[in-house]
Amino acid sequence: MSQWNSTEKRCVTCNSWSGTRTPVVNGKAVKADNQFVKGKCSNKASKKYSEINAVQNCNYWEKWSALS
Ligand code: SF4
Repeated sequence: MSQWNSTEKRCVTCNSWSGTRTPVVNGKAVKADNQFVKGKCSNKASKKYSEINAVQNCNYWEKWSALS
């Protein structure tokens, strides 16, 4: 498993990402299998609107609502 702080602006911490992930540390972090886990971005404004992996990012990042 890999873990990222909720303040890291990555797809894995973003509200628009659909990959498998789990909030931990009371929402101050998130876990996923590894950095290569893929998910879809639902933000049509993003140029990365497609299957993308956990550690990518873009200027449309918004913190996942499950995180604090
Ligand atoms: S590409 Fe941007 S908007 Fe889409 S999930 Fe990643 S950070 Fe969020």
